[in-house]
Amino acid sequence: MMKTRFTEAFGVEHPIIQGGMQWVGRAELVSAVANAGALGCLTALTQPTPEDLSKEIGRVRDMTDKPFAVNFTILPTLKPIPYDEYMDAIVQSGVKIVETAGNNPKAHMPKLKEAGIKVIHKCTSVRHAITAQKIGVDAISIDGFECAGHPGEDDTPGLILIPKAADKIDIPIIASGGFADGRGLAAAIALGADGINMGTRFMATQEAPVHETIKQKIVSADELQTTLIFRTLRNTTRMFSNEVSKKIIEMEAEGKGIDEIGPIASGLKGKLVYETGDENAGVWSAGMCIGLINDIPTVKELVERIVNDAETIINERFRRIVA
Ligand code: NAD
Repeated sequence: MMKTRFTEAFGVEHPIIQGGMQWVGRAELVSAVANAGALGCLTALTQPTPEDLSKEIGRVRDMTDKPFAVNFTILPTLKPIPYDEYMDAIVQSGVKIVETAGNNPKAHMPKLKEAGIKVIHKCTSVRHAITAQKIGVDAISIDGFECAGHPGEDDTPGLILIPKAADKIDIPIIASGGFADGRGLAAAIALGADGINMGTRFMATQEAPVHETIKQKIVSADELQTTLIFRTLRNTTRMFSNEVSKKIIEMEAEGKGIDEIGPIASGLKGKLVYETGDENAGVWSAGMCIGLINDIPTVKELVERIVNDAETIINERFRRIVA
């Protein structure tokens, strides 16, 4: 049993968060993670409307009575998003934990705090973490360059970012980006974090709403099979390296902008990857830790294994070395 500032403050058994993943953060996975004693995280924008989000939150509640979170990501999108309506759906649903990401959550903080919601803000730099702490978030998820999705523009890996954040931040810190096993959890604790956030690792679990072919692809891939798109748009995004992500990088090199790239980069095409198993149907996120994933366990098996392995490393390996 690992007790950290995160597990204590958020009422979660294990210091593990299932990261917000567009199209993957649905009720089946989130409730499985919650039932395994970690913090599952629904992605608000996976749901086409705020009403659908309310229903999805209800579906999680039907499957678990443990705490879970909703991810609220504020990033450029092809179509405008009614953010305030999504936020109202979250607040009215009675959810107690929200993960904000992508941009400063300041505008939404009064509503969140008034509703007694704890906020975990995910960011990719220490300066943004300091700002988030100042505006009253309850925890920081610090996301290293290794991560899937949006690593920011600074390219700072977790080995630097996590201890640097730990030096500057007083609230609980979640280490994100590159984590897939118990060694990572023990390392994150050693670096000053109170837990880990994992996305790609949870994609290759039995409960993840991801086509079996893509899960097998994750298992067979190595750490060289991710790539960065949208560097030229200052919206850098780490994706699985496939035909579509390569095409986007070519288009960027030719000076093309979002008007031309958008139709092939659309999230709706990425969604088809998970539904049909066609790895080239669109772009899909994957972190560098894809090289550490070798199986497709149940969520419960995965969470137990990670916690047990981290405990063994701390109790045995760390102790043996200092003895
Ligand atoms: P989408 O189909 O609207 O856009 C596809 C991609 O193009 C996204 O990565 C988006 O950020 C990018 N994009 C759109 N307009 C842009 C612009 N003007 N400049 C630069 N880049 C632009 O997005 P989607 O796949 O439906 O996802 C919805 C939102 O959720 C996006 O902002 C996406 O980045 C974000 N997201 C969230 C998570 C999460 O964990 N919650 C994961 C992946 C993506």
